[in-house]
Amino acid sequence: MRGVLLDRPGQVRIADRPDPVLLEPTDAVIRLAATCICGSDLWPYRGADPAEHMPMGHEYVGTVTEIGDAVSNIAVGDFVVGSFFASDNTCEICLAGYQSRCVHAVPMGAIATQAEYARVPLADGTLVATPGRPDSDLLPSLLAASDVLGTGWFAAVAAEAGPGKTVAVVGDGAVGLLGILAAKRLGAERIIAMSRHADRQELARRFGATDIVVERGDEGVERIKDLTSGLGAHSVIEAVGTQQSMMQAIRSARPGGHVGYVGVSHDVSLPGGELFFAEVHLHGGPAPVRRFLPELIDLIWNRAIDPGAVFDLTLPLDEAAEGYRAMDERRAIKVMLTL
Ligand SMILES: [Zn+2]
Repeated sequence: MRGVLLDRPGQVRIADRPDPVLLEPTDAVIRLAATCICGSDLWPYRGADPAEHMPMGHEYVGTVTEIGDAVSNIAVGDFVVGSFFASDNTCEICLAGYQSRCVHAVPMGAIATQAEYARVPLADGTLVATPGRPDSDLLPSLLAASDVLGTGWFAAVAAEAGPGKTVAVVGDGAVGLLGILAAKRLGAERIIAMSRHADRQELARRFGATDIVVERGDEGVERIKDLTSGLGAHSVIEAVGTQQSMMQAIRSARPGGHVGYVGVSHDVSLPGGELFFAEVHLHGGPAPVRRFLPELIDLIWNRAIDPGAVFDLTLPLDEAAEGYRAMDERRAIKVMLTL
C-alpha cells in the first residue's frame, strides 16, 4: 500500500509500505476514506522532534475490511471513526474517561494512518461505527472528530467552559478553533479568541468567538484582563504547547479559574512560585477523544456542528508533501488527505 514517509525533517514522500494484517484477535484493519496532517506532525517535520524514515499520521476514518476473532462491537463493512490512541475502553482508567492513558493504550502514530490501510488495535474499544455510510460532505467533520475536534472538546471540558463563563483560547490552530466550537456548545457566555490571522479570526467567529485579541504574551494577558474587569477568564484553553503559550494561558485565568491544556508540551517548565499564587486549576494532556466520540459523531451526523470547516485544503494522499508545506508555511489551517 501507499503511505506517507518523513525521510528527514522537511522531506515527505509517498512510499510503498507493507499491507497491514491482523496481528492480534482484537485487531481490525480499515481502508481509509480520509486522513489528515496534524499540527503535531509539524514538530518532526520542522526537526523539533527526531525523524528518520518515519511513517506518519494518527487521524483516520474509513471502512472495516477485516476483524480479528475477538472483535464483536464492529463488523466488516462498518464505517468507523477512532481516536489517535487505541484503547480497550474497559480498564479502570478508560472507565474513568481517560482512554488516552488506557493501561493498554497504543499510539496510532506508531501505526501511521497517512496511508491506504491501517491496523487498529483493540478495535472493540477504539472504534465507533457511524449509523450508516456517511454522505461525502460529512467526511471532513467525522475526520475532525478523530483528533482535533475531540481534543478541542476535551480542552473546553477540562477548562470547565459552561454557562455564565468567559473562555479565553490561546492558539488559533485547528484545535484552538474547535475549542471555541466546543465552548460555544457547552454554553459559554463569552469566548475570546487570541489570534493574529484574519482567516482564522473569521472561522473563530463562525464557531462562536465573541471577542478577538490579537496581542500575545503579557500584552495578550493584559487585554484579557481588560475584557474581564481585571480578573482574568474563568476558563482558558491552551492549544499550542510552548512555554509562552502555557504562561499566557495560566496568566489569563482568574484565581479559581481552570486551564485546559492540550497543546503537545515542548520544553515547558512552570515556575512554582507563580503557579502557587496563581491559584488556578490545571487539567490537560493527550485528549481522551474516545470519551467524546459517540456524542460528537451524533452531533455531526445530525448536522448540529460543522467542525470539518477547519480543513481549508484538501489534497489526494499522493500530494501529502504539498500538504505538509502548506501547513508549515501557515498557508493552510489543516489539510485533509483523501484516498
Ligand atoms: Zn483502558
